[in-house]
Amino acid sequence: MLFDLQPKTRREDLYDREEELEEFMEALKLKETLILLLGIRRLGKSSLLNVALSESGLPFSKIDVRSLYFTHGSIPQDLLAKKLLESLLKSLKGREKLHMELVRTLSKISGITVSGIRVEFSGKFDLAELLEKLDSWAEKSRKRVVIAFDEAQYLRLSGIRYDGLIAYAVDNLPNLTFVLTGSEVGMLHDFIGLDNPKKPLFGRYAREITLERFSRDQSVDFLRKGFEELGLKISEGEIERAVERLDGIVGWLTLYGYLRGVRKLPEGEALRELFERAKALILDELSTLTRHSVRYWFILKAVSLGNSSWSSIKEYVEFKAGRINDAKFSGLLKNLTKYGYIEKTDKGYSIPDPVAEEVLRGLNLPPGK
Ligand code: ADP
Ligand code: MG
Repeated sequence: MLFDLQPKTRREDLYDREEELEEFMEALKLKETLILLLGIRRLGKSSLLNVALSESGLPFSKIDVRSLYFTHGSIPQDLLAKKLLESLLKSLKGREKLHMELVRTLSKISGITVSGIRVEFSGKFDLAELLEKLDSWAEKSRKRVVIAFDEAQYLRLSGIRYDGLIAYAVDNLPNLTFVLTGSEVGMLHDFIGLDNPKKPLFGRYAREITLERFSRDQSVDFLRKGFEELGLKISEGEIERAVERLDGIVGWLTLYGYLRGVRKLPEGEALRELFERAKALILDELSTLTRHSVRYWFILKAVSLGNSSWSSIKEYVEFKAGRINDAKFSGLLKNLTKYGYIEKTDKGYSIPDPVAEEVLRGLNLPPGK
């Protein structure tokens, strides 16, 4: 169902993304070892990743780094390895021979116990060694193994040099492909540092697949198809109005379709509920950042109100929160860009997500005070 709110897992529930899927498969076919899947929040990175992994037919492991980080407050190596292996074993469901061979390989590593699809660790173990073993297993079974870190930029908060580990694997373990996705595109770039001579992945090649929002026509078609699937007749006028407000951001279009088509709320109610939920989500997503500086709020508010130049944003922020020096202000602005909350184009600064923009414009700042 197109309007299912969970990230999609099946090809038939994924609208379009043909080219991106093809590019992903091509990278695997060419035995590339590093793929980046980029794009702002709610454009369907996790969905594309799920479908691509399952369509690849390869053994794969997928780790939701953001949720791992927030449930544990850190990402220790043994936890990451446990998740990695459990997900990999799960991907081999129904492929007894491969599964058995993998269990046999793993049980040779000291400190690892496997039972069914559960993996436990005891004592010291080395993640690099584990990856080496996976690489040999992949070579022997003539199957590339795909290791995906969804919202990988959170790995940088772990205190462990995972960038170094990934660099080592990308260079030395040819049968593994790493896929990193990131909504905070600038943060992910900083983390892997392909252009930064001080970082371990400097100068490496990565396949970058960037998700864009749907075009107007695609967005209209997406809603039309989704309602059709539910056997509902929704007027063209209503569909146009929804697209006008939500733009080509598939996450919002899906939520609208769900509220309107599955929950069957009237148009106005559905939009109201959508903006309520969007507000809660966006406040939550911003909370970590804005705890560091209340000025982040004022910058976002300034941009949401249509201030697009460096100086007009600064003027607004100073009016609300007092003087701030140029360097410090530029730093905050740059961070918001790296996190994907604002965008800088030749027309100046803007908020790439029109729903976020509308939510921010309506907030009393700072919220909750
Ligand atoms: P991201 O990981 O980029 O934040 P998700 O994959 O979580 O985005 O998708 C956000 C929402 O949009 C989910 O409800 C998902 O089901 C839906 N969605 C994303 N891409 C598509 C697509 N191509 N077709 C249908 N629904 C999609
Ligand atoms: Mg996601």
